[in-house]
Amino acid sequence: MKELSRFTCEEAFRRLDDYLDRELSAHLEICAGCAREFGFEESVLRGVRTRLRQIDLPADLQSRVLRALEGDVV
Ligand SMILES: [Zn+2]
Repeated sequence: MKELSRFTCEEAFRRLDDYLDRELSAHLEICAGCAREFGFEESVLRGVRTRLRQIDLPADLQSRVLRALEGDVV
């Protein structure tokens, strides 16, 4: 188990993040279906979130909508 302590937790997670990022972009490059769906959802969610911040919603309604967007049950 000595090997595991070579990295700090922070470094390990950063490496995991980098790894997942690379794997995901590599997959999206070869998988049109995922790329379309992922890109679509990402841009839609980003657009909605941005707009939600620009309009004046009651805080609890805003957070409920944001939670719904994350896929949680409202
Ligand atoms: Zn795919």
